[in-house]
Amino acid sequence: MTLSHRIVRIALPLPRPRLFDYLAGPEARPEVGHCVRLPFGPGEKTGVIVAIDPPDALPVEKLKPILELLAEIPPLPAQWLALTQFAARYYQHPLGEVISAALPPGIRRAVKLPRDDDPWLATTADGRAALSEAKRITKALAAVEAVQAAGARRRSQLLNDLEGDASGAIREARNKGWLEVVARAGEREPIGALTLNEAQADAVSAVNASAGSFKPFLLFGVTGSGKTEVYLHQIAHALAAGKQALMLVPEIGLTPQLMERVASRFPGANLVSLHSGMADGARSLGFVQALKGEADIVLGTRLSVFVPLPRLGLIVIDEEHDASFKQQDGLRYSARDLAVWRANYEKLPIVLGSATPSLETWLHAEAKRYTRLDLPLPAVADKPPSLRRIDTRRVKLDNGLSPGLIEGIRTRIARGEQSLVFLNRRGYAPVIACPQCNWISACPHCSANMVFHAADRSLRCHHCGHEGRVPHICPGCGNQDLHAFGRGTQRLEERLREHFPEARIERVDRDAVRTPAQWEEVRGRIEAREIDVLVGTQMLAKGHDFPMLTLVGIVGADAGLYAADYRAPERLFQQLMQVAGRSGRGELPGEVLVQTEFPEHPLYEHLARRDYPGFAKRELAERKLAGFPPYGFHAVLRAEAPELDTAVAFLQQARAAAEALQSPVRLFDVVPMRLVRKARLERAQLVIECDTRPGLQAMLTELMPLLYALKLTKDLRWHIDVDPGEL
Ligand code: ADP
Ligand code: ZN
Ligand code: ZN
Repeated sequence: MTLSHRIVRIALPLPRPRLFDYLAGPEARPEVGHCVRLPFGPGEKTGVIVAIDPPDALPVEKLKPILELLAEIPPLPAQWLALTQFAARYYQHPLGEVISAALPPGIRRAVKLPRDDDPWLATTADGRAALSEAKRITKALAAVEAVQAAGARRRSQLLNDLEGDASGAIREARNKGWLEVVARAGEREPIGALTLNEAQADAVSAVNASAGSFKPFLLFGVTGSGKTEVYLHQIAHALAAGKQALMLVPEIGLTPQLMERVASRFPGANLVSLHSGMADGARSLGFVQALKGEADIVLGTRLSVFVPLPRLGLIVIDEEHDASFKQQDGLRYSARDLAVWRANYEKLPIVLGSATPSLETWLHAEAKRYTRLDLPLPAVADKPPSLRRIDTRRVKLDNGLSPGLIEGIRTRIARGEQSLVFLNRRGYAPVIACPQCNWISACPHCSANMVFHAADRSLRCHHCGHEGRVPHICPGCGNQDLHAFGRGTQRLEERLREHFPEARIERVDRDAVRTPAQWEEVRGRIEAREIDVLVGTQMLAKGHDFPMLTLVGIVGADAGLYAADYRAPERLFQQLMQVAGRSGRGELPGEVLVQTEFPEHPLYEHLARRDYPGFAKRELAERKLAGFPPYGFHAVLRAEAPELDTAVAFLQQARAAAEALQSPVRLFDVVPMRLVRKARLERAQLVIECDTRPGLQAMLTELMPLLYALKLTKDLRWHIDVDPGEL
């Protein structure tokens, strides 16, 4: 044995819960947390060192050497490994796969880090001297002057600051040694902070006072109550103490406006944003800047919960109820729940903000485990919109539109104001059918109907993406008269155009607006009052301020009242509160019209009063009776295979194994999933329920090795989902 070699134990991205030992040469100087590239089978893989010279390693002769230690990336800190280890335990997922999911794809594939092409620039002593001695300010000196004024400036920001194309001037200043690249921005006071109202000030000081210790807060306030302003003050406090801040936002919430608002508030801070749509190189770079302690603020979507931050002082989660915080495949984690664990482990305050908190969070606050901070009033004086229910049993609908809603839109158009019609179903019609032989446009790969899209006369499956043409005649009987049943946003748009041929109507859903840039463009036109009527899905619901938008019409919401999933009412209420909040954000009073067949339904009663606490109380009482979350805890074992029987047989075996464990959990029957067939696979599930989280965890920890040991039929896939988003 060569003494200078070290045995390194590596977590590798493999669907099995085991670790692998390799040898690292003396020159590598491995540390726990280092990323390494190594030979694996016929190829190679990248993994992370989780232990060095473990006592139970195989004999050295049996071990292969690693290929390379990725020294460019500093070792991932112990706290980061602890977070991934917790996620592996809690979500019952192999550690190697957790680590791999937590790393950006570029690092996972051991791609070299790109050069930072937007570096921070600071002035040098030479630059400052040149500036003070100069008789005339050249373009290069103007660049030095601008950097000097800001303390430090990113190259991209500097290009914005200076007139014309200043890239040549910046290059000259760097070549002359007047400007230099620095790792992080200089200290600089935040600018443009608003004077807080009393409730905001209380919220800020409560959180600031608990710096350095774990304390969870629920910041409860409607859109426009000034939550973001509160976060910014709290972040300022963390930065002033030399700490880093992590702010998580929903996928749809990471807008250029928010980025700009944070960046311009903290001109001296190094702001890193992270989301899955970014190029791999930029994502790796942001991750490594955070890891090196160079980033001050990380602003990102759910995956940012895994960003290593050695100086972390505060975590903020905006719209904490948003479903996008739960990952729906692979490692099915809740970024919100992991963030709370992380705050506890790293002893930090964490702020969860929402107008309609998740019932989990609300119950924590009711039980005083979380401290509730209320922002009861809109930050800028505006009246909450009035909400009126239109009983659709008593009026004649025109393609889903009630006379009341049509009149409302007409009035707004006449007054030069804007309206929004909300229908959370895209496409023209959810199904095409033949009235003669009952043929319907079913997806050949899923147990779902193909949706009719009018623009290109296509049929599309929203579950698997399958596309086909709309048949001219019925494939079943040759009938030429096929009907489109039900309606989606495209059909509403068409009807509105017929009613208001002069109006400027815009549809906003994932078919019409595919990229953030397109959405930006549409937003610009809404703000410039170039649009009279918006029709769209929940894309329109989230935090945007449109002062001229005074009417919101809600169409087709009833479907969520009696949906099979027990979380449906909670989601519906959250969505409707949000979309209702789009109207009346300016000087003008807003109105919300809800078309419904159930005007007396308590959900609408609470909505009309904007009474989230009342809604939550009622909903929690029902959950308690049923033993559902947050009063009970669930895990779902799902299996899929080309034949339903295969999936069911596996789950029956799993169920038998679970039954033998003598645990306090309740095992539901193995059942086909609601959408049983998806993308040519048949799916079934087994729900496991327990009154306590530890009880559920203990049972799963025992069960998993048994599942891994089961002999699998070829083509069978299974996974476990702890705290599933739906059942
Ligand atoms: P939220 O995040 O709850 O939607 P914001 O923080 O974005 O609320 O605030 C909504 C609007 O009110 C913004 O235009 C913001 O600039 C303004 N605002 C927030 N706090 C104050 C304040 N203390 N004084 C004046 N305006 C404020
Ligand atoms: Zn037919
Ligand atoms: Zn399909």
